[in-house]
Amino acid sequence: MSCPRIEVDLDKIRRNTQTIAGRLGPRGIGVTGVTKAVCGHPAIAQAILDGGAVGLADARISNVQRLRQGGITGPVTLIRTPMLSQADEVVQFCQMSYNTEIAVIAALASAAIQKDKIHGIILMVEMGDGREGISPENVAEIAQEVMTMQGVALKGIGANFACLSGLAPTASQMASLCDLANEIEAVCGPFLKTVSGGNSANLPWAVGWRPNGRINDLRLGEAILLGVEPITGDQIGGMHTDAFTLVAEITETDKKPSPFPIAFVDPTLARLHIVPTSGAAKRLILAIGHQDTDISGLSLPVGCTLIGATSDHLVISSIRSHLQLGTEVKFQMNYSALMHAMAAPDIEIKLLDDRPARQPRHTQGKSERLTLV
Ligand SMILES: *Cc1c(COP(=O)(O)O)cnc(C)c1O
Repeated sequence: MSCPRIEVDLDKIRRNTQTIAGRLGPRGIGVTGVTKAVCGHPAIAQAILDGGAVGLADARISNVQRLRQGGITGPVTLIRTPMLSQADEVVQFCQMSYNTEIAVIAALASAAIQKDKIHGIILMVEMGDGREGISPENVAEIAQEVMTMQGVALKGIGANFACLSGLAPTASQMASLCDLANEIEAVCGPFLKTVSGGNSANLPWAVGWRPNGRINDLRLGEAILLGVEPITGDQIGGMHTDAFTLVAEITETDKKPSPFPIAFVDPTLARLHIVPTSGAAKRLILAIGHQDTDISGLSLPVGCTLIGATSDHLVISSIRSHLQLGTEVKFQMNYSALMHAMAAPDIEIKLLDDRPARQPRHTQGKSERLTLV
């Protein structure tokens, strides 16, 4: 098996989706699986669908094309406001898109008319995150305008929280979004099919005691893929946090005590650096670096400490004696590390357990024969 690689346990992703869909379903909230962190990997997308997601969403057309090429035929929504220059592709590959600009919606409408299609429009409302969206007071007017256009159909509204601001949505913001849905229906008439409450940062709200009102959709990536709640980074009860594992190989070992402490020029690395107290620690170099992933988002195995990284090298110190030249070392990744690693051209993606029905569980990890930490 080649290194570096990401081992993907599809069964854990499937079960994570099942767990969340099982908790949100009874509350009337469907899960839209967001595949942007895995660059629209079709098998991962399929695992999310198999786990009970009602649809898929991605931020980039290139990722959606990958889903389509991999045989995903169900509904895919573009969650980043489409580029004006990509209207044709958006209509071709996506059933719906999130929109904030009337000129873009007009371009989607004319592309849809040409292709003899109806493209679904969800209006993204800016409810305080400070990223994309129409301000709440203008939404009803834009909704009315969309209603008059051929080629597009108004399908719903949505909001996004915690992406730019890092602040979790409040119950009153969620209530405002519900009020807005009612207000739009009061002026536009038809029932809004989707009221999408946000991303993984909405889960604490969604599983809380408050009624979820009209919110009937969440767009979830991080929670399903990594089993964590994004703001705190805490594990969500009953979820797997190790569906993805990054594996890198040791290319150099050095038994000499390292010249600690090292003066760091880069403050972000200094933050990560813990000076080992044991002089017996070995200094190890691994063939992975900033070009492959967000190094600061890696969790090192127990007994290993990060010293630093460059574009192609990771330097760690370890008190574990079995780590030798050629040994593979396993890392867990946060969302940022995962997103970068999945997009890195030199990292192989190795799917584990992609046929759970035919493969007994104990044979799923072929990698167990290797020396791993
Ligand atoms: C990335 C994104 C999501 C999914 O966010 P997670 O934190 O991965 O759940 C949802 N909606 C929008 C608009 C996004 O950009």
